[in-house]
Amino acid sequence: MVRNQYGVVVVGGGVAGCFAAATAAAEGIDVVQLERKPREEGGFIACGDAMKSPRNPKNYPGPIDMDAIAGDESVLVDNNIDQIEFWDEELGVRKVLPYETGSNVIDRYEFGQRLLEQAADRGAEQHYDTVVNEVIQTDRVTGVDAIRNGDPVSYECDVLIDAAGAQSILQDMIDFEGLDTSGDPTFEVPHYTHFGSAYREIIETEKPVEYHNAIVGKPLERMGYIWYFPRTPTEINVGLGFQMNTEPIPLADRLRRDIENRPEYQDATVSDRFERKNKLGAAIALRRPLDSMVAPGYLAAGGAAGTTHPITGKGIRGAAYSGYSAGRAAAQAIEDGDVSESGLWEHNRFLYREHGEAAKLASWDAYNVAASSIEVNVLRAVTALLPERELREIVGTSTKVDSLKSKALVGTGVLKNFVSEYRRGSFDALDVGTGELYEAVRSVRTTRTYVSAYENQYEAYPEERSTFEDWLSERDRIDREFYDALDLSPGDYKY
Ligand SMILES: Cc1cc2nc3c(=O)[nH]c(=O)nc-3n(C[C@H](O)[C@H](O)[C@H](O)COP(=O)(O)OP(=O)(O)OC[C@H]3O[C@@H](n4cnc5c(N)ncnc54)[C@H](O)[C@@H]3O)c2cc1C
Repeated sequence: MVRNQYGVVVVGGGVAGCFAAATAAAEGIDVVQLERKPREEGGFIACGDAMKSPRNPKNYPGPIDMDAIAGDESVLVDNNIDQIEFWDEELGVRKVLPYETGSNVIDRYEFGQRLLEQAADRGAEQHYDTVVNEVIQTDRVTGVDAIRNGDPVSYECDVLIDAAGAQSILQDMIDFEGLDTSGDPTFEVPHYTHFGSAYREIIETEKPVEYHNAIVGKPLERMGYIWYFPRTPTEINVGLGFQMNTEPIPLADRLRRDIENRPEYQDATVSDRFERKNKLGAAIALRRPLDSMVAPGYLAAGGAAGTTHPITGKGIRGAAYSGYSAGRAAAQAIEDGDVSESGLWEHNRFLYREHGEAAKLASWDAYNVAASSIEVNVLRAVTALLPERELREIVGTSTKVDSLKSKALVGTGVLKNFVSEYRRGSFDALDVGTGELYEAVRSVRTTRTYVSAYENQYEAYPEERSTFEDWLSERDRIDREFYDALDLSPGDYKY
């Protein structure tokens, strides 16, 4: 078997992998990036392709030149998205929220290709057609075994960066208990119910769609949603996703049923631009970022670390900044000669404390917990009732959840909407009683209080490994108190 020695092995040629590989290589580390797909298929990723503010350096830090990518017309096919629309057609509801300026629906393939090129330009070696099938470990992770173009290859390294996406197979291969950690390992493999399965197609319409400047979301009969994201006024990324906490749903059939009923898609055809890659499905992380994304000799980034939240349009950028963080922390630990949990802790510290977006995502995940605890028909009715300002907070287009004063505003806004929706008879279709509605609105208001409690706790995320257990027990206490406030039974606890 061919053996190779590197400072850093990055598994994954997606966004997280490219940001990690480019960052570590730019720091002068010997990096190899492994990707199971062939070179020309790198960048084919199942995605809604909506990307928030590509030119904001906070979202896309490090040596990858995002200005050059954002300036490339083949990537930013549509620079015209300025609103999010939420539709519930059965209820006659259409809510329009402003979207972050400078947001886009991109050509994901071209974007992926540019990222791979830039990672190579920064000095990362890239091995395509390379499927990782084993992780090698002693008291720390020391490398991976793979099949490259049909031949077995072994890659040894100081640090392995797992950027293999949501439900990373690497995490099933590692015996985390067998690694040398001081106390219990801080890394915990996420449960499958923390993921969603999603599917998308790119279709072409004969006439421009009326919502060409918006990304549109609609609820489904189960916890999940359908989207219409216009890449151009006549080329639409349509897709749907469900949380994996109930029986699986045949995604392509369900999407087709929806498309067939829409007048603007009557003559639509599946675009021939990408041939067979127009129809793609994959897992998505629908959980808070992992409590710790490090183990001895190992770092997780992107979907593999849960720093990506596609529902709020933060899947791509969450992969980017966490990939950067992993590359940076790996390079620093190698330079310091300490790739233990403590030596790699900088990755957790940066994401939760310095960059801070992981803390925000973890806190706002409380809304997902609350939504999962409410019947879907009641949830739809509540969404119809919520003032747009509240919806903006929930979908993450506004900033920090603010004070108790805004809680009072939610109350008056809901009441006002309730009177008008009730008069229109909106809730008859859903068969929802006022008692259920009251309870659900109460849950949303309760959740706001807990989002603030989580924000305070995550702002105090441990700077060092040594105080992690104390911090975690307080965070777990907030979890339990929150579940009690929502009247959840232990079988329904998300974490
Ligand atoms: C249908 C769908 C729609 C989405 N819509 C949006 C959206 O509109 N906006 C948004 O921001 N986010 C969206 N997301 C989420 C976003 O796509 C992800 O958050 C992001 O792609 C995660 O990037 P990543 O680099 O962590 O993982 P990935 O992009 O999944 O990359 C992982 C890479 O690792 C490779 N790999 C995996 N296992 C191995 C192995 N054993 N050996 C070698 N290589 C391996 C894979 O081939 C892949 O290239 C969506 C996701 C899905 C599934």
